[in-house]
Order: sequence, then C-alpha cells, then structure tokens
Amino acid sequence: MTFTIAIDGPAAAGKGTISKAVAAHFGFAHLDTGLLYRAVGAKTLRGTDPIEAAKSLTAEDMVGDLRTPEVAQAASKVAVIAEVRAALVAFQRSFAARDGGAVLDGRDIGTVICPDAPVKLFVTASAEVRAERRFLELSQKGLPDTREQVLADVITRDERDRERSEAPLKPATDAVIIDTSDLSIEAAVAKAIAQIDARR
Ligand code: C5P
Repeated sequence: MTFTIAIDGPAAAGKGTISKAVAAHFGFAHLDTGLLYRAVGAKTLRGTDPIEAAKSLTAEDMVGDLRTPEVAQAASKVAVIAEVRAALVAFQRSFAARDGGAVLDGRDIGTVICPDAPVKLFVTASAEVRAERRFLELSQKGLPDTREQVLADVITRDERDRERSEAPLKPATDAVIIDTSDLSIEAAVAKAIAQIDARR
C-alpha cells in the first residue's frame, strides 16, 4: 500500500512535530525534506559548489548537526537554485511511493514533489510564535542567538522561500491549512490526524 501525506509550511510552524506524530500514529515512514537542503547547505559552507553538493549527496552528509541557524540560512540559499532542487526530486518521490505509507514535510511537497498526494496539509503560525518556538529550541541546545536574531532569521528565510521562482513556499490549492499559533501540540496533531482519517 502506498499513501502519501504532504505537509508543508514556513520555518518552525510545527511541521516536524506534527509529521513525526502522524507518522507514528499511522505507522508510516517520515522524511524531513528540509534536512536534504540543510545537508546541501552545510556542504556549501565547507566550500562545495551547491549543484555538485546536491548531485553527490550521500547518507554521510546527513550526519552531524544540521539544525543550526547558519545551516538553515545556507539551506534556503541553495534551495533557490533549480538544479539543486532537481537533483533532490527523485529521492523524495521514491520515498513518497514506498510501500507502507509516507509522510514528507517541506515547502513544496504538495505543490511540486507529490501533487497527487491524497492528503495535503499546510501548517503555519504567526512569525512571532514561530520565532519564539525556534528560540526556545535553540536555547535548549545552548545556541546563543537572541529572540530578535531568531525572529529576523525566520522572516528572512520565509521571504526567500516565498519569493523564489522555483517551487516557492505556498499552499497547494487543495491543501488544508492548520494554523498552530494558538494550538497545543496535541490539538494540532489531533487536527492533522482527523484530516487524514477523513481521506483514508
Ligand atoms: O524545513 P527546514 O527549516 O529544515 O528547511 C530548511 C530550508 O530548506 C528552508 O528554509 C527552505 O529554503 C528549504 N526547503 C525547501 N524545500 C523543501 C524543504 C526545505 O526549499 N521541501
């Protein structure tokens, strides 16, 4: 059985948390596609050409701390390049088509990677709420950014992701929007599961 759940949305909206919970609930595999772009971004920070980095991505590149603000910015810079995106399409589509069901989260899953996915969710929240969540996450890891820096970073990355010509961040026309600004994690996950149950 194949069944793809596409979950898109801006930085720190809760996509990752919802995707993991949904995958665990339905026994599906989960792919955080942002990690692919982060791995490419991290390679460029070490001096590799972005297109080469995307074409030669291996499992080894996925190891290490890819969840730093520097890598996030590098990821969104390489993500504007058409050839970088093209190099990552086949892997994402094959993951989506795996037997047993798949949850993919990212920016363009419902619009470009899996336009035929039976469930498309667009998870969002206000920039302030998202920045606060990311700030708490980073401070737990001991990373020293201030709230203001985190908010500025989130806004810059959102703008770059929304305004690029290749696969810009936007909800698919048939996506269900889940705004998590005022929702607990449990309530947001419950909403997502209800949408999926309705389509299975
Ligand atoms: O989701 P995450 O914040 O880890 O993504 C890092 C960056 O990778 C995003 O800001 C975006 O530029 C890029 N990305 C993308 N398409 C995806 C997933 C991530 O362009 N499907």
